[in-house]
Amino acid sequence: MTIVFDTLQPTLAPIAGGDDEFPIRRIYCVGRNYAAHAREMGKDPDRDPPFFFTKWPETFVPSGQMVAYPPSTDNYHYEIELVVAIGKGGKAIREANAKDHIFAYGTGLDMTRRDLQLEAREKGRPWDTGKNFDEAAPIGLLHRAADVGHVEAGRIWLEVNGETKQDADVRDLIWSVDEIIEYLSNLYELRAGDIIMTGTPAGVGPVLPGDKLVGQIDGLSPVEVTIGETAF
Ligand code: MN
Repeated sequence: MTIVFDTLQPTLAPIAGGDDEFPIRRIYCVGRNYAAHAREMGKDPDRDPPFFFTKWPETFVPSGQMVAYPPSTDNYHYEIELVVAIGKGGKAIREANAKDHIFAYGTGLDMTRRDLQLEAREKGRPWDTGKNFDEAAPIGLLHRAADVGHVEAGRIWLEVNGETKQDADVRDLIWSVDEIIEYLSNLYELRAGDIIMTGTPAGVGPVLPGDKLVGQIDGLSPVEVTIGETAF
C-alpha cells in the first residue's frame, strides 16, 4: 500500500529548556472567559457553562515568525491567552484531578478574523472562518508544569508596537483551567498532544501589516510575531 499524498507531518511545538518538542494533536479554544472581555464583545459575563471552538493543529506558528495578514478580512484581531498542553489523556476528568493531565503551559495568540466571527455569531453560524485559518495560533515556548508549577495566577499582557493593549491577571479567568478540563473532557476524550487556549482578557483590537505583537504571561516565555503582507 502506498499513501498517495505526503500530508502526515506532525505539528511540533518547541518546549523550553532543550530540544524537546510537543506534538500537537488538537487545539481547543474557550470563548469569553474573562468578564471584561465578554462585556467588550457585547455579552453578559454570567456563569453560563464554558463553550468551545477548535483550530486545526497546523494553524500553530512558533514564536518569532512573520505571520501573513489573512485573506478575506478587514478586521484582523489579536487575543492573548494562557495555553495549556495536555500530557495525559482522559474522559470525564474531575476538576480535582485535572492537574494530573497537564504537561505544560505557554503564551498564545488566538488570532481572529473578527468581521467573519461577528457575522457568523449574528447569523447563528459556526465560527470556523473567523477563528480557524492559516497561521491563526502563534504560541511561545511551552514550559513543563514540572518546571514552572501550575499556572493559576500571574500577569497576562500584550503589546502592539510597544504599546500595552491587553493587561490582566490569569486569576480573573471566569472558568479556571481545572474547570475547563472537566467540561472539555466531558465533551471529548482528551489525549496527550491536545492544546487548550483558555480565553482572552479585555482589550482586543485590530492589527495591520508591519505591526509587531509581543505577549507574555508571568513565568512563561513570550509569544512574538510580526504581521506580514496579505497572504492572498
Ligand atoms: Mn480567544
